[in-house]
Amino acid sequence: MVAPPRSAYLHIPFCHKRCFYCDFSIIPLGDSAQIPGSPGINSINAYLDLLHREISISPKGPALSTIYLGGGTPSLLKKNELGDLLKNLQRKFGFQDGAEITMEVDPSTFFENDLIGYIEIGINRFSLGGQSFDDSILASIGRKHNRSELIEACKWVNNLFKKGLLRSWSLDLIQNLPGINLSKWIKELELAVQVEAPHLSIYDLSIEPDTVFGRRHKKGNLNIPIELVAEKIDFETNRFLKSRGFSRYEISNYSLPGHASRHNRTYWNGSGWWAFGMGATSAPWGQRFSRPRTISGYKNWLEQQESHSLEKTLFFEESKRMPLDELLMIGLRRREGVHLEELAKNVGWTQKECNKNLELLDKYWLNYLKEGYLMKNNGRYFLSDPKGMMISNQILIQMFSWWDALDFE
Ligand code: SF4
Repeated sequence: MVAPPRSAYLHIPFCHKRCFYCDFSIIPLGDSAQIPGSPGINSINAYLDLLHREISISPKGPALSTIYLGGGTPSLLKKNELGDLLKNLQRKFGFQDGAEITMEVDPSTFFENDLIGYIEIGINRFSLGGQSFDDSILASIGRKHNRSELIEACKWVNNLFKKGLLRSWSLDLIQNLPGINLSKWIKELELAVQVEAPHLSIYDLSIEPDTVFGRRHKKGNLNIPIELVAEKIDFETNRFLKSRGFSRYEISNYSLPGHASRHNRTYWNGSGWWAFGMGATSAPWGQRFSRPRTISGYKNWLEQQESHSLEKTLFFEESKRMPLDELLMIGLRRREGVHLEELAKNVGWTQKECNKNLELLDKYWLNYLKEGYLMKNNGRYFLSDPKGMMISNQILIQMFSWWDALDFE
């Protein structure tokens, strides 16, 4: 029996405009997003109505230990709007004492007082979407904020943290953005440490086809670092942050002791989670389900769910756990990796199936094991850091080839 979820994600899809690299499920509102009576506000109200309706048709479950308000830009919403959503969620599930409640905030959307308001409704961790401290890079990726706004936002958040009003906070940066080089990147990291972020998410730029960057890349007009420079940047990120006391607990996440994100661990551990909202992916019983990515699609889907009896909604599809290949894909991202046989047995494999199939994976991974990219210790596999983490995609491609070749009788 799969343990019921204790985490929930709420998707707030609104943004001022779409950043050039972003293919998330969002609704750009322009500058009207925060002006009373504007069309932007009407869109927000209509969406919130749908989100409340989705929460109210969800079955109940045990009290939540982590809640994450992501997007999009949740900080385009007022504290009361988010507070009402949290109250609705709390009525449905209850929150455990000390639950981690994270909210993503965009530096161009708030003042210090707004953050205090969010803390009043229960937020105890902010994740700040900085991406870069470099003005020319920020402009070239389509962000609305600039360097000084980001530094000020970091100060506000950190002050609240130091006053004991937050349990932690995080800063997102993207490495390998167009225009970056190694010396500029080191300055970005120095600043991230200077603003005292206790948790850093350092993402690699991912080029998605249906974005401004995807189109530029296709035409050969995107000046991203060549592979060798990208590798050096990744290597230096790891060296620099470790020398400042950070530990890399997942491929893209570094934290000072005690500041790892509990919510994100849920995803990487393969535990179930609830999710609500347009485009949001949930996996309450392990199997992932992604909601439609447009507002009309989401509304239609929600109406269908409302017209079913509860037992027939997706919430009750306690079918199978997440398949082993997906669990391996996410589990290998963690520093501690995965215990292959334990994982296989957890998803229902018999000892006979384990004996027959698991050793075969070593053959697919032979070169990576030999050359120290992948480590194996008492049945536990983990990527070496930074060598293996840098080429995790190649290692996963071999794993998927093994998976495709498996013969289940
Ligand atoms: S602010 Fe975030 S979610 Fe919104 S468009 Fe930019 S990257 Fe995408």
